[in-house]
Amino acid sequence: MAKVTIPADQQAEHFQISPDYVRISMAAAIELGLKPGRIERAACDCINLLQNYPEGCYANCTYCGLARERPGMPEDNTFIRVGWPLYSTDLIAEKIAEREAKKEVGRVCVSQVQDHRANADMMEIIRRVHEKAPQVPIAALVSATLLNEAKLIEIRDAGVDIIGIGLDGATEEIFDEARGKKTRGPHKWDYHWEIIRMARKMFGPMNVNCHVIVGLGETDRDLFNLFFQLREEQIAGYLFAFNPEPGTATQDLPRQPLDRHRRVQLVKYLIENYELSPAAITYNEAGGLSKLDAPETMLDEAINSGLPFMTNGCPDRHGVMACNRPYGSYRPSEEYRDYPFVPNAEDVTIIRGQMRLDEVWAKSISAAQ
Ligand code: SF4
Ligand code: SF4
Repeated sequence: MAKVTIPADQQAEHFQISPDYVRISMAAAIELGLKPGRIERAACDCINLLQNYPEGCYANCTYCGLARERPGMPEDNTFIRVGWPLYSTDLIAEKIAEREAKKEVGRVCVSQVQDHRANADMMEIIRRVHEKAPQVPIAALVSATLLNEAKLIEIRDAGVDIIGIGLDGATEEIFDEARGKKTRGPHKWDYHWEIIRMARKMFGPMNVNCHVIVGLGETDRDLFNLFFQLREEQIAGYLFAFNPEPGTATQDLPRQPLDRHRRVQLVKYLIENYELSPAAITYNEAGGLSKLDAPETMLDEAINSGLPFMTNGCPDRHGVMACNRPYGSYRPSEEYRDYPFVPNAEDVTIIRGQMRLDEVWAKSISAAQ
């Protein structure tokens, strides 16, 4: 990325930066009436905010449009494919309060980037939103690299009830390649886990989540092992779909085939909701799912509910999933990767066709007979 020559302490005079300005997801901007448009088949129940600095982010994750070594200026960049418009934090806080007065806002999420100002600015953004809309639950999507125990306490005391952590890579090797030492980035796998477990102790079961990207080169075994571990530790795992971002180091890496994504979604759901055991899964030599040994009734119930294929995200104040991120994993004209609403019977028929479950499951029936 082009180097910004204006020193940090003078940047507020030249750029619209945090904490006075924040980026907002396009879906949330539409929901708050800041942008025209309509979200197909879904409301956007979570207002996702992202810090803004002229340098983007000082980390260097290979797949991210904000990464330090990505070409161009951050203003030209996109983040998870759809533009994130920039507004004054006070205006966004007012709009959140306005919308809350008419119809509950499910949640607000403040995301950090890697920057020396990010901790103080996140606290200030949270303070401004909380002051205007105190009933709205707030999540902090943090950069673990910036945190320690005292900072986590500060975040909790500011009224944040859920911590999200971008682990993104399913294993240490994938993490190192995509975000860690191999990228000359600052992130460390072990320290991420230290902060995840510290937060889990402080915020309680299922109030800490790890974002995990499907499609960074990991195997099904890598993902499923992580899901079993997260279940064990009562930490939520939220799936994201890799999308190649133009200009990033992974711009030519293909997206995952949809059948794989659907099977990963299904197995994750069975692990989390049906106590699926590791013994029910057989892998091929490459670590891919080759056989799923699960009763037909369980599979039918799970698939027909449509729930495994929905976006994974933090809940609202009633425990209902709020962070549904419309257009987060697909473009408006594309098929859904995750559904920001409960898929209906017609959607489930499409999902079944995409998943091609018989390829791994039919063998399981014959093996069980
Ligand atoms: S830390 Fe987050 S924002 Fe920064 S480059 Fe990595 S993924 Fe992007
Ligand atoms: S799931 Fe949504 S609300 Fe929760 S931490 Fe992640 S981005 Fe934020």
